[in-house]
Amino acid sequence: MEERSWDLIIIGAGPAGLTAGIYSARSGLDTLILEKGMPGGCINDASIIENYPGFPNGIGGQDLASKMKEQCENTGAEIRIPENVIDIELKDKKKLVTTEKELYSCDSLIIATGTEHRKLGIPSEEKFMGRGISYCAVCDGPLFKDKELIVVGGGNCAAIDALYLLNLASSIMLIHRRESLRAEKALVEDMKRNGIEILFNTEVKEFRGDDRLRSVIIYNNKIGDFSEMEVDGAFIEIGRIPNTEIVKRLGVNLTDGYIIVDQRQRTNIEGVYAAGDVTTSPHRQIGKAVGDAIVAATEAYGYIKRPYYYNK
Ligand code: NAP
Repeated sequence: MEERSWDLIIIGAGPAGLTAGIYSARSGLDTLILEKGMPGGCINDASIIENYPGFPNGIGGQDLASKMKEQCENTGAEIRIPENVIDIELKDKKKLVTTEKELYSCDSLIIATGTEHRKLGIPSEEKFMGRGISYCAVCDGPLFKDKELIVVGGGNCAAIDALYLLNLASSIMLIHRRESLRAEKALVEDMKRNGIEILFNTEVKEFRGDDRLRSVIIYNNKIGDFSEMEVDGAFIEIGRIPNTEIVKRLGVNLTDGYIIVDQRQRTNIEGVYAAGDVTTSPHRQIGKAVGDAIVAATEAYGYIKRPYYYNK
């Protein structure tokens, strides 16, 4: 297959990837962004974002994602969606990127593949995905109007989802495996105030149904008791895992699955940078992803063009 050559390829079109695209294209680099799903990445899951500067009344996640994409395309970066990267390898100084559709080569690469929802990994979870099981309340909540729902998880995201679904569902219950929630106090108070029932020390062990989810088998790990609960829908919010499968063969250094970068967003491989939630950055916030992506794109420019100020 004949490879098409670019200065910079960015994998992932979340806030980090799109920001890197804006900076890269504006600096004159021939820039390609490859995204396997929806542009915007995990911000699409947020009903409202209130802590990203510039939007005093907050902005919907999907709205922010589409504005970032538009701005990125306006700068001249090319975004190809959906295009799933299946392999990356090095050929001398070039990086070869293979997707399900094409083979590309580039001088520099930015990995901005983000994270994906962690799955429970229990029987029938996959079978009922999209048939009663969801990992995104904002995306799928409206499909469950007046239904009996559970949210699984004990962190901020689970609490936010439960509060969001409250306005749609006929009943909502949070199921958490431990005795206390990880979610911050304000959210816990909000759930209490709104009468959201919480089942503590409870694990979801199995999903049951026919063509749709109808019930869950739950296990109370304090008293050692199994029971079956009828539900119309289950929203699973038990954290996220980094999308780093494709960089493993390339030899990028990881820790707990996250890409290790230095202060200049450099990985251990020359010309390969990473930004956003896929890195070891401890603060997984949109603003942080945006800032890190600016550094990564500016460094990639320096690496490719070697301006007088570039310090190798
Ligand atoms: P999280 O804080 O890591 O919470 C994940 C929850 O899922 C935990 O309660 C955990 O239980 C539970 N869990 C993990 N694996 C499980 C399994 N296999 N079965 C059952 N339960 C399981 O994740 P998150 O809520 O997605 O939040 C991610 C990060 O974003 C966090 O740092 C969070 O603070 C941040 N965030 C911030 C805001 C904000 O507005 N400030 C909003 C959303 C998210 P255990 O508690 O028992 O471990």
